Amino acid sequence: MTLGVYVQVPFCQTKCTYCNFHTGPVAKSLYNPFVEAVVREIELWATSSEKWLKAAVDTVYVGGGTPSLLEPATLSRVLEALQERFDCAWTEVTLEADPETITSGKAAAWRAAGFNRVSLGVQSFSDVELKAAGRMHRRTDIFAAVKTLRAAGFDNISCDLIAGLPHQTAASWENSIGELLALRPAHISIYMMEIDEGSRLGREVLAGGSRYSASALPSDDAMAEFYEHACAQLATSGYEHYEISNWALVAQPLLVAPSTASPLGWRSQHNLKYWRREPYLGLGAGAHSFNGTHRWANAHDASAYVSAIQQGRIPVEQMETVGAEAALNEELFLGLRLLEGIDFAAIERRYNVCLASRLEDLRKEGLLTIEGTRAKLAAKRLTVSNEVFVELLG
Ligand code: SF4
Repeated sequence: MTLGVYVQVPFCQTKCTYCNFHTGPVAKSLYNPFVEAVVREIELWATSSEKWLKAAVDTVYVGGGTPSLLEPATLSRVLEALQERFDCAWTEVTLEADPETITSGKAAAWRAAGFNRVSLGVQSFSDVELKAAGRMHRRTDIFAAVKTLRAAGFDNISCDLIAGLPHQTAASWENSIGELLALRPAHISIYMMEIDEGSRLGREVLAGGSRYSASALPSDDAMAEFYEHACAQLATSGYEHYEISNWALVAQPLLVAPSTASPLGWRSQHNLKYWRREPYLGLGAGAHSFNGTHRWANAHDASAYVSAIQQGRIPVEQMETVGAEAALNEELFLGLRLLEGIDFAAIERRYNVCLASRLEDLRKEGLLTIEGTRAKLAAKRLTVSNEVFVELLG
């Protein structure tokens, strides 16, 4: 078994209207103390005698927030600390970046530090949609960012889009998909907009107002059509749909530097750990961890996190034991997010349960397909996967 490491950097330039994460703008003077705290947290975990932490680290994902705001030297310091303190044999080291934060100097420094994958928060190619969502970048920044990253040797670029942004129409969505496919990134994530009442947009929707373009949100049906359109377009453009929200290029992306071409293909090796319930250690404020039997999060408040670490204490919150029933449920709803589905016979053996009648009921309702011992979400039900999971676990 290998280990994934996730580093959460909770800083952003502004707050997007739809965002409910514990992230936001802070004074730049707080960046360095935070990174020092992450380095200290690495040291604290490295002295632990826990066996699962002795596994080789094969994936690192620095996310947020907007970690590309940090100086490359400080990001490099985190990777160096990991290499000094953990057994590292990493194949995938990802940095999340917003297009407008990328310069050729930064991109070259990220490569030199050891990053070999960039996850780019594109969200849309429509300036109207980007502006309404409170994003800082515009369409032209996306092309410039991809060009700059490729010039620095990044072939493994992932681009995120959001289906369901305010002002999005069938025409603007088709244009975003077309522009994205012309860039031919190695990996694509498409998320359906979730209106969360903890976000400014969510509160406005609840209040029936029109600020943040709340009244220009597409309907749920339109959003589902956008997703279906993306599925069809990506399927005929060389992308393998491997998880509800994720596609990997089957062929090679535009630029392939031999040192970074992954023998494992362009799927996100780090994110696969989440769906396969493999262990990962989360570092930084609000980062989540899973060691096979327990899940926990670090304190979400960045100042509380830094001050606890400075006192030599890891501020663990929300520790929960994953008992057999919870583990079984996780196997089902995380495993079914993968388009390859689950081997239910193996799960039945592992948990000493019988799933046949539960799965058969869902098959009869057209929610699942069953082939041999594999169960998969029915292709037409991917947009309502949460409803399927509720029925399955209910
Ligand atoms: S960049 Fe991401 S984390 Fe930051 S405010 Fe926007 S959606 Fe939230």
